[in-house]
Amino acid sequence: MNPVLDHRLVAGAIARRLTILGSTGSIGLSTLDVVAHARERYGDQAFPIEALTAQSQVDTLAEQARRFRPRFVAVADETRYDDLKTALGGEDIEIAAGTEAIREAATRASDLVMVAIVGAAALEPTLAAARRGATIALANKECVVAAGDVFRRTLAESRAIVVPVDSEHSAAFQLLDFGQAHAIEKVTLTASGGPFREWTRERMRNVTPEQAVAHPNWSMGAKISVDSATLMNKGLEIIEAHVLFAIEAKRLGVIVHPQSVVHCLVSYSDGSTLAHLSAPDMRTPIAHALAWPTRIAAPSLKLDLAKVRQLTFEEADLERFPCLRLASECLGAGGLAPTVLNAANEVAVGAFLAKRIGFLDIACVIEDTLARRESGGTARAQNLEAVLAVDAQARATASQLCALRAA
Ligand code: NAD
Ligand code: MG
Repeated sequence: MNPVLDHRLVAGAIARRLTILGSTGSIGLSTLDVVAHARERYGDQAFPIEALTAQSQVDTLAEQARRFRPRFVAVADETRYDDLKTALGGEDIEIAAGTEAIREAATRASDLVMVAIVGAAALEPTLAAARRGATIALANKECVVAAGDVFRRTLAESRAIVVPVDSEHSAAFQLLDFGQAHAIEKVTLTASGGPFREWTRERMRNVTPEQAVAHPNWSMGAKISVDSATLMNKGLEIIEAHVLFAIEAKRLGVIVHPQSVVHCLVSYSDGSTLAHLSAPDMRTPIAHALAWPTRIAAPSLKLDLAKVRQLTFEEADLERFPCLRLASECLGAGGLAPTVLNAANEVAVGAFLAKRIGFLDIACVIEDTLARRESGGTARAQNLEAVLAVDAQARATASQLCALRAA
């Protein structure tokens, strides 16, 4: 190892100015943990922060701002503006509120934007960051699923680079030899199987939000935890992989791997299969994305295979987990079908978390929303407005269907 070269590479990576959209969530907190670790390890100048944002968690946001000294802080919920202003009174930090302020945070000059907002609400800020050519550390998957074509086109027209943070896609990004695209036979994403991996449908009928959110391996936000329990998370992820890496649907697969140690497998035509392994700790893919193409030290759990002892794999059961089937069908259908799928899922998961519908109703609401839009489902999205219109319509339909089920 050349210590001088090593030092220069790391210095280049950590000098980059960072904005975190959604800094108060699970990925946001882990990102700041990686930044804190980098500052301890490499000095206080590591990853200077341009902006931090949140939906409404003003206390956490203000605490983060005092510690990490961003120039700009924004809260999406306008009613929390005064609270944020009071909490940061006397600090030399610009404060703003509203959805436009979140977009402004994405637009301000930074080298890196970590997109850790949950749901399709991340779409417009992500596109804004892409248009100005930022490097995007992308944790959010809903925006890629909802607006695949628009997302790809915006990236192609800008100098923006997306480095995936979702663990399977971070793994794929590291395993894929883009110069040998002709030889890539299969990309297989692993799924933990979630908390109900071995449950019958009958047993799943009375699942509570608390049970669904208690993931066996990962600690995550509520929405993605429910998605993991229905396997919709893996469904969204195969669509995400299709958009990010331009891999054909027929080359994308899913395998259940309850230990969550192998994150992705890439098989080449010569018979080689490459795998990416790490402990299930999001700080590893986050550190990879923040430092790419360099590597930095992260405070992540380190993998000890002797302790893990066994790595097992099994087929995903599409009958017990219909959300994965629905997502595969939408990937096959293409066009705006994934937009409808994602919108209906966000509404149905919200209704389930609010205890308005049951766990098994989630898939039914999504399937019925898709059926009602069958005719327009395969049309391609011309632009962002078209995507937003279909997204809004699907949300309205899914909300009605949730209300009918709740009645
Ligand atoms: P979370 O719910 O814990 O945090 C979401 C963050 O977004 C919070 O800071 C919240 O204030 C903010 N936010 C929510 N709605 C918003 C809105 N409308 N406008 C602006 N800000 C808003 O979610 P999370 O688990 O950290 O997940 C974030 C994203 O990363 C999701 O898309 C998820 O699928 C993806 N992801 C998460 C994990 C994980 O381990 N948590 C792993 C892979 C991918
Ligand atoms: Mg994932």
